[in-house]
Amino acid sequence: MSEKACKQCNRIVEDATECPVCKNNDLSSTWSGTVVIYNPEDSEIAEKLGVKTPGEYAIRVK
Ligand SMILES: [Zn+2]
Repeated sequence: MSEKACKQCNRIVEDATECPVCKNNDLSSTWSGTVVIYNPEDSEIAEKLGVKTPGEYAIRVK
């Protein structure tokens, strides 16, 4: 699996070594569950995850 998740903001990152959202390079290949967030301001899960940028996010990152 080439998809990894950012440990800081949970963003799913594909074929990259750096998170496009927070520029963190601490990515984890151990994560579970994904959610696509379209409207961070209007999403309960986005608020829970602290997401402010639309995109695909992991529910849990280890
Ligand atoms: Zn990030």
